[in-house]
Amino acid sequence: MKNITKSYINGEFVTLHGTQVFNLINPTNHQPVGQVTLGDEEDVQRAIAAAKAAFKSFSQTSVTARIQLLENLKQAVSKREKELIEVMILEYGGTRQFCTMSLQNAIGSFDNMIDTLRHFEFQRKSGNTFIQLTPVGVVGIITPWNSSNSFICSKLATAIAAGCTVVVKPSEMSASQTQLLTECFDEAGLPKGVYNMVNGLGSVVGAAITNHPDIAKISFTGSTVTGKQIARSAVDTVKRVTLELGGKSPNIILDDANFEQAIPQAVLGAYMNSGQACIAPTRLLVPKAKLEAVNQLAKAAAASVVVGNPANDATNVGPMVSEKQFERVQHYIQVGLDEGATLLAGGPGKPTGLEEGNFVKATIFTNVRNDMRIAQEEIFGPVLSIIPYENEEEAIAIANDTMYGLAAYVTSANEVRALKVASRIDAGRVCINGFKHDPMAPFGGFKQSGLGREFGVYGLEEYLEPKSILL
Ligand code: NDP
Repeated sequence: MKNITKSYINGEFVTLHGTQVFNLINPTNHQPVGQVTLGDEEDVQRAIAAAKAAFKSFSQTSVTARIQLLENLKQAVSKREKELIEVMILEYGGTRQFCTMSLQNAIGSFDNMIDTLRHFEFQRKSGNTFIQLTPVGVVGIITPWNSSNSFICSKLATAIAAGCTVVVKPSEMSASQTQLLTECFDEAGLPKGVYNMVNGLGSVVGAAITNHPDIAKISFTGSTVTGKQIARSAVDTVKRVTLELGGKSPNIILDDANFEQAIPQAVLGAYMNSGQACIAPTRLLVPKAKLEAVNQLAKAAAASVVVGNPANDATNVGPMVSEKQFERVQHYIQVGLDEGATLLAGGPGKPTGLEEGNFVKATIFTNVRNDMRIAQEEIFGPVLSIIPYENEEEAIAIANDTMYGLAAYVTSANEVRALKVASRIDAGRVCINGFKHDPMAPFGGFKQSGLGREFGVYGLEEYLEPKSILL
């Protein structure tokens, strides 16, 4: 049992003014794994005051000094990579495969920002005007539970690269992971007040950060509902806001694709991070003429998916993070049945032998219409909807018929054809022929999937304010 009683303010672990306690439960077996004390508004005030004080000197540091800090952070996190993976599996229930990849992304985010900084121009010229890109100020970072370490690392790396100081509010369900990560940051020797972290509820600590006049920008990853609430509150003090929100990503398989390869890949993709992934391709769009063959391939793929203990190397789908999330996914499976979609695999209830944890069966609905709730709403669990289309034009229309626009996927034997389709899809990221990742490419959503971009040059510019000096 881990008892986390302190948060991190002004370069040290401090006892909080808040006294409320939150229980940390292992989602694999419902056994308690720890407790975390939650902060309150007073703790947020302290953290913001520390970040504000530190900003004065930190915003003036050289690029060389910031590269050194990013290097130190990378070393400190790398040293504890194995522990971080184990804690993530225990507390979050992420599969070993996913947690390992997620930690590599977290560590990689420091390198990516170092690379970005090496080529970035903080001073530019336009005609007679001299443009300085200056750090925006104190940044409030608010993160969800589904890949906590990598979100915190990548947002912190960007803030440091820009010369900003931060106050982080992680999900309380990620408290053990954040504690360990904070120990790494502490060891990295950041100047006091550059990184502050307050555990607490979104409605208390998150809201206090969002409302505070000394926070210049919010970088938020989470649900679209909460993102809108944050944007509304932030407008009173005209904060800059970056929102990375939900998705309902289409995966278009064109009629010339290799279906034997594409369909199993599509099923596994929909179950990435046990289905708790914003970029998961949860709408599989296939030619109507090939629906029967697709159904057979998809059913066989679902049968081969290993749902179970996330610590095992072979597990593809672990438990949902919480009982609440389990119930939410069960609710949507029932909605799919009620809406008349055909259940192809999985369904309601827990898989046999896994009754102790928040496990969901690897589920597929077919004959789904795009106006059904299971095709329009983010389920955030291992539930795939197969939607048939008549022709390419209709496939594109269905792909775009959503309030979301985070990611999309196109598979075709003809790359030129796939590119043409990709260019007509309203999404921040479109992958062709497989699940590609480029940590330097701008990441973010069209429509209600978000505002602004993260990663690389585009991500860094979101933490900077252009100042024009006219000569
Ligand atoms: P939530 O939106 O519920 O919560 C995200 C964070 O916001 C949590 O730390 C939460 O605190 C906090 N929060 C809640 N209410 C407020 C508030 N009023 N003011 C400030 N902060 C608040 O998302 P989940 O944690 O449930 O994460 C899942 C969601 O995240 C999914 O919709 C998913 O698509 C999205 N997501 C988006 C990604 C992207 O890059 N686009 C990547 C990963 C996930 P608390 O935990 O106390 O509620």
